[in-house]
Amino acid sequence: MIEETNPELTNLQQIGEFGLIERIGQTKKFVHEQTIKGIGDDCAVTDPQGKKVLLSTDLLCEGVHFDLAYVPLKHLGYKAAVVNFSDMLAMNVKPAQLLMNIALSAKFTVEAVDELYKGIHAACEKYGVELIGGDTSSSIRGMVLSGTVIGYADEEQIVYRSGAAERELLCVTGDLGAAYAGLRLLEREKQIFKDNPAVQPDLSGNDYILERQLKPEARIDIITALAEMGIKPTAMMDISDGLASEIGHICKASGLGAHIYLNRIPVDPSAASFLEELKVHPGVAALNGGEDYELLFTLKQSDYEKISKSPDITIIGYMSAASEGIKIETPDGRVSDLTAGGWNAFQ
Ligand code: ADP
Ligand code: MG
Repeated sequence: MIEETNPELTNLQQIGEFGLIERIGQTKKFVHEQTIKGIGDDCAVTDPQGKKVLLSTDLLCEGVHFDLAYVPLKHLGYKAAVVNFSDMLAMNVKPAQLLMNIALSAKFTVEAVDELYKGIHAACEKYGVELIGGDTSSSIRGMVLSGTVIGYADEEQIVYRSGAAERELLCVTGDLGAAYAGLRLLEREKQIFKDNPAVQPDLSGNDYILERQLKPEARIDIITALAEMGIKPTAMMDISDGLASEIGHICKASGLGAHIYLNRIPVDPSAASFLEELKVHPGVAALNGGEDYELLFTLKQSDYEKISKSPDITIIGYMSAASEGIKIETPDGRVSDLTAGGWNAFQ
């Protein structure tokens, strides 16, 4: 954390709200034809050009969703933007614009806000999104960040959670559980540091799980790849709260059950070995851990050939009738219920 007592740093009061907004607002040429007016007036103005408008918002509170003891502000800004983009991509739509609201307590300096916005702008740049507004406020304690993302699409392109059918393939992208492993590592090192400030954090050899926790990416590449393959998922959502609860959402919205194979759930080897050290079953971390920001979707069986060679997509099971419930099968052939709270490897 940057201390405001450092004479090299600037208090927020010194530049005021308008000074801060001026720093945030970049008057770049808009790339989206839908952007008419960005930062600088009472409202942003967009033109949907006859498309449907998709909107989603996400709130991050210090002490609840993030801990500034180990999250760099630039990463936090990046993540605050990316979690919003992930929700839009989960509808099979690329995000176009972002509004970001921030509330800051007096402990934050202008330089700290600059770092935060470096991350927000970097995410916007990478995902082709325009920051078109927001609001700025002080807060009594800590930081609050609330992002709203806007996207545009024809109705035929939009994928809802409710579109899955029986016997369809249930797929996930990338690997799961690593963000949870990264969080456990950061919490462990924070505790060690608290107990003995002379001990330096030992984060070596755990780059992947740390990156998955601190700098998540949303799967815009998958949305592009599926479109190029001529595939439209029948149902989709992003995996922010753990696979088990997300499968429950798709099943509920689609009025179906599902059958999942535990050993098909992809877990990165470095995440798996770290979790095993902690005596956490990697499959349990994938099912119950959160913040992976991968995609969970269903596909028609006829799309199997098209995706079977993609290293980024894994079929983990299939959709069944609602009466069959949501089941998980372990490698020894045992089948048990997968509840919304997850699955206990030791039941
Ligand atoms: P108001 O007083 O009407 O809320 P503001 O002075 O807060 O207006 O905002 C002026 C402009 O700056 C608006 O275009 C608004 O969207 C933008 N803005 C304010 N805060 C932020 C922020 N944190 N990030 C991006 N844009 C912001
Ligand atoms: Mg305002």
